[in-house]
Amino acid sequence: KQRQPVEDARPKTPVKPMTATEVKVNVSIPEAAERAAATGADGVGLLRIEHMVLSLGKTPERFISDNGERAYVDEIIEGVRTVADEFYPRPVRVRTLDAPSDEFRQLQGGEDVPREHNPMLGYRGIRRSLGNPSVFKLELEAFRRLYDMGYDNLEVMFPLVNDAEEVIRARQHMKEAGIDPEKREWGVMIETPASALQVGAMAEAGIDFASFGTNDLTQYTLAVDRNNENVASVYDELHPAVLELIGSTIETCREHGVKTSICGQAGSKPKMVQYLVESGVSSISANIDAVRDVQHEVKRVEQRLLLDSVR
Ligand code: PEP
Ligand code: MG
Repeated sequence: KQRQPVEDARPKTPVKPMTATEVKVNVSIPEAAERAAATGADGVGLLRIEHMVLSLGKTPERFISDNGERAYVDEIIEGVRTVADEFYPRPVRVRTLDAPSDEFRQLQGGEDVPREHNPMLGYRGIRRSLGNPSVFKLELEAFRRLYDMGYDNLEVMFPLVNDAEEVIRARQHMKEAGIDPEKREWGVMIETPASALQVGAMAEAGIDFASFGTNDLTQYTLAVDRNNENVASVYDELHPAVLELIGSTIETCREHGVKTSICGQAGSKPKMVQYLVESGVSSISANIDAVRDVQHEVKRVEQRLLLDSVR
């Protein structure tokens, strides 16, 4: 009788460690949904829709002026549905559009997008959504239709918010689109120092979760362009100032019963995982290739904390 090589005898899908902190995955293109789901992640911590929208080759405003709203909404529905389907019933946190203006300028209709001196500090995220309600409405309509189809695992997340006023306005748009904020999970990204400092007021505005967008939070806290190689050495997601903002946000959120998570790149790094688990974060969302390592790192830190508590 032939012996099986040792490698072949191992289970095909390694056993996922049980952790109190959820470990989720980030998804930027619907085509990655299957691979992302196969990681055994507890859900999608960030589903970006920029790729879906930009791949249409036309600005959202041009779709509207061409009476092409339907095609625009359908594209978002199709992309988000692919991911929501793959993960169901695990939760999928879909973020409303957050592309800087220079990315729209390359599209058909881009000539109408004002040139900005510093797009990263410009018209993007929730400011663009609140400033262009006709475009924002289409995204929310896509999400509402997905809820109507039964995808109750969807959660709505707003990017680049600064304060409760923006959150209240975004929530109102959600309601007008037929999404009941009392019934659905929704929340914000913490990407600016202002949002970290104002999270208590945002909690009172009814958010269910706050998710650290450390790519931007680092950029705005340290005043360092995340895409500028000349200052790459200053860009440090583990800078004490960034960690302090994260730590105090987690504490405030805990007092208000708001869940916390991370969906920036730093969530894939062991040192950040360690800090977050020690601080009591609810979930960590990592890149597809990092999920397995993050699951094990979370387990390791949780076990150490448990041991420390009984010593
Ligand atoms: C972030 O800022 O950390 C984030 C996840 O958003 P994006 O990278 O899309 O700006
Ligand atoms: Mg961001």
